[in-house]
Parts: sequence; C-alpha cells; structure tokens
Amino acid sequence: MSNTLKIQPSNTWWDPSGQPLLIAGPCGVESPEQVLSVAGDLSALGIKYLRGGIWKPRTRPDSFQGIGEVGLSWLSDAGHAHGMQVMTEVADPDHLEAALKAGIDMVWIGARTVVNPFQVQRIADALKGVSIPVLVKNPIAPDLELWIGALERMNRSGIDRLAAIHRGFTAYERSHYRNAPNWQIPIELKRRFPELTLFCDPSHIAGKTSMIAPVAQTALDLGYEGLMVEVHPNPLKALSDSEQQLTPAAFEEFIGELVVRSKSMMDAISRSHLAEMRSRIDEFDQLLLDVVAKRMELSREIGTLKKEQNVTIYQLDRWNEILRTRTQYDAASGLTLNKDFIIKFFELIHEESIHQQTQVMNSRDLPGENV
Ligand code: PEP
Ligand code: MN
Repeated sequence: MSNTLKIQPSNTWWDPSGQPLLIAGPCGVESPEQVLSVAGDLSALGIKYLRGGIWKPRTRPDSFQGIGEVGLSWLSDAGHAHGMQVMTEVADPDHLEAALKAGIDMVWIGARTVVNPFQVQRIADALKGVSIPVLVKNPIAPDLELWIGALERMNRSGIDRLAAIHRGFTAYERSHYRNAPNWQIPIELKRRFPELTLFCDPSHIAGKTSMIAPVAQTALDLGYEGLMVEVHPNPLKALSDSEQQLTPAAFEEFIGELVVRSKSMMDAISRSHLAEMRSRIDEFDQLLLDVVAKRMELSREIGTLKKEQNVTIYQLDRWNEILRTRTQYDAASGLTLNKDFIIKFFELIHEESIHQQTQVMNSRDLPGENV
C-alpha cells in the first residue's frame, strides 16, 4: 500500500502566516442573526475560517438534527460579509451539492461518516472534478487505517487540498473526556503523512468548556497546525453541544492564553546545548538497553534453573517483592520517578522476562546436551 497523499503545500491554501490556523464557529447554524453575530465577533479577533454545522448527525432522533439547507446561505453570507472562508460538514452527496451551490468554501467529513467506507466513497465520487478543500475528521472508532482510508478516497478523487481533524474517539469507559484523545493515533498519522495539515478539535474531545484550553495546548505542543473550536453567541441556549461551546469573549481569552512554541531552536547556543543533551540521552539509552539485555540474560539463566528443578516460571511472591521494592526507588535514590511509571516499566520488564523464561522452559534441549 502506498503511503503517500498528493497534497498541495499548506501555505498555498491556508493562511501562510505560520501562526496556528484557527477555525471557529457554532456547532450548529441556528438563525441568520446567530451566525452573523458570531462571524462579526470572530472576524474582529482575526479569525479567517468560520465553521457551522447545517446537518447534525445526532445520536438520538429527538436531538436537534441541524437547521438544514436553509442555513447554508446564512452561514455563507455571514462569513463572506466578514471576509472569512466558511465550512460545513457534509454527510452525503446531496449535502455536498447544496453546499457547493450556496458558495461554501470548504467541507469536512464528520466522525460518524468516516466510519462508513461506502458513504465516504459516495462523497468522494461526488467530489470528482470539484476543486474544494476537504477536512476529514477521525472516525469515532480508534482506527487509524479507517481515517487514512477516508483521506485516500478523497485524494484519489483529485482532492489535493486535504487536511485532517482530530476530534477524539468514543470509549466505553467513562472518562473526563467526551471523546478520548488517544494522542498516539494522530501522532502516527502525522508521522506517516507529514505533509498533511492536522487540526485538533478540542471542543469535541473535551466536551466541556473548562477542558478545551489544556487539550488545545497539548495539540499545539505536539506540533498540530491548527484548531477547530466551537464558539456560540449564547452557549447556554445552543440547540446542540451547549456544554462545550465558548462565548466569543471566552474564546478571545482562550486564544490569548495559547502558547505557540517554535518547532526548532533558532539560536545557535540553544541548538548546540540541545545537541549535547541529546547525545547524552543517546548514551543513556544505550546503557539502558545494555542493562535490560543483561537483566534478560539473567532471567534466562533463572529459567534454566526453574526448568531443571521443574518449578513454575511465575512466582507471585517474587513479583510482589519486585513491585514493592522498586516503587521505593525515590526515597532511596533522592531522584524522582513517577510511581505509576515505575510500575508500568516493571510490568513490561516482567512480561518480557516471563516470555524469555517460557522460551527456555519450552526449548527441548537442556544446556550441555547435544540434541
Ligand atoms: C461537529 O463538528 O459539530 C461534529 C458533529 O463533529 P464530529 O463529527 O466530530 O462529531
Ligand atoms: Mn458539535
């Protein structure tokens, strides 16, 4: 499978300032006044990209399903009146056709649509010959290949202004997130497709306003190019996602507090300092691997002894003792390591140790024997 997407460089179609790209606007378009008011406030803050849902894929049928086609011109007029580019979610070819007719500038494919390759393909087919930027949200399931598949389907239809939006994943366990971020999935996407513009949607990950800022900051610190944030003139009265929408004033405060760090160290002194510290890290990693390899060698010797004595590999007492003594490391050394980390680290070591001993136990040749 090819691991390339043919994408136009992002500075040719996104704002080339190099600042984080900010898309903001209501979860759902509700009235001409609502969208005009938020567009005015956002454009006064320098926001160039306005979002607004027209068709809302709600889980339950009694929820607000979006204002529908009538809202497209409200969104388009409001954004364009303020010189903004406007975007909405399309979930089928009819939505796309209506959006294009209304002069919508960009579309995104929602998380619930991306899980369905047939539906994604239908939209991709409808996009053939249409030159419009497309943003693809992650599927609700934590499945990187499904996300990539949707991006590929768009790309093969000739969409070369393509971006991805990380909006978190449905998790069965209750957590303080509405949608679990599973950061390793978007990080792997970016590793495989560095040319892809990556947005974070902290609103749908957080699910509540208090957590939007830390999620957004994490995304910027991980090198995401932009954010898509839900902003509503009056969140308490919003017809959808009222708990996670920021007021324009709260959004202003939010963007004022975002810290944008540069990807590379610019001055020569910092660069050489960084290089020096990295080379020490390289040495420590080498030492770490040597020590782990030696530890495994001992484990295998113990495995041989257990085999000769015909005793079980797993010894609960010993494992408890390892956990108890290793988690006392801080007190003994004066250095700090997080206790949870120590436990996870030794679980991994112990698992590998058992694996190695199992191999010894199951090998048919006893040491010294020539089989
Ligand atoms: C939305 O952006 O309002 C939306 C419905 O998003 P998602 O597809 O991420 O649930
Ligand atoms: Mn929403």
